[in-house]
Amino acid sequence: MTPDHGDLLYEGKAKRVYAASQPDRVLVEFKNDATAFNAQKRAQLADKGRLNCQISARLFERLEAEGIPTHYLGLASDTWMVVQRVAIIPLEVVLRNIATGSLCRETPIAEGTVIEPALLDLYYKDDGLGDPLLSEARVRLLGVVEPEQLSAIEQLARRVNDVLRPFFADLDLQLVDFKLELGFNTVGQLLLADEISPDTCRLWDRRSSDAQDRILDKDRFRQDLGGVMEAYGEVLKRVQASCADPRNCM
Ligand code: C5P
Repeated sequence: MTPDHGDLLYEGKAKRVYAASQPDRVLVEFKNDATAFNAQKRAQLADKGRLNCQISARLFERLEAEGIPTHYLGLASDTWMVVQRVAIIPLEVVLRNIATGSLCRETPIAEGTVIEPALLDLYYKDDGLGDPLLSEARVRLLGVVEPEQLSAIEQLARRVNDVLRPFFADLDLQLVDFKLELGFNTVGQLLLADEISPDTCRLWDRRSSDAQDRILDKDRFRQDLGGVMEAYGEVLKRVQASCADPRNCM
């Protein structure tokens, strides 16, 4: 079902953003397009939009219930979300609890090393530049945010980790790492934006000891492991089961 919407404002790799009837809101449509390696690898994965939209919604609700401000306002259909309009900060904030992925490709840190406290990495959100890793000095030089805004962003990202890590652990899912995007709404409040889903998180199934079977996230697509949507479906199933308990979600 397609809800009433206004003009297409922006189309990204995984979502489309449309104007809503209220100027401080927008509608987000989650697409079935899957991309990896800066869109060099592409596919259509039936049902991905619904799975990511529903997983994200439940996670935003959980975070809101813990007092973390997000752009999420509600679902408009299976694959559409109503959110606050935000000006996205061009930084990708990555939190790492377990070393894997680019951290292990780019440093001698061994795969699977537990990182405590979590490592927070900042990347410049620019597909043309390949989303480069930034130093704090480069963030300052770029001037994309004020220094006090940067510390607010880092605090918010760490609070998200503090909520989601135990939330997933209760579902037998290990939150290995994840990427966040943040933005300022029309009254200047810092909000968590974008999505939180198996496209943007690494989640390992504690119920499996096999290094490949346990992967329940986009690494299945990146590494051609198959069963991508089955894995996302398993994440949604566990998240929904948890949210059936009113203590866990709004
Ligand atoms: O590639 P890397 O290991 O740095 O990814 C860290 C985390 O950030 C992973 O969960 C990955 O899915 C996510 N990520 C993302 N979008 C990007 C880069 C990374 O969602 N552009």
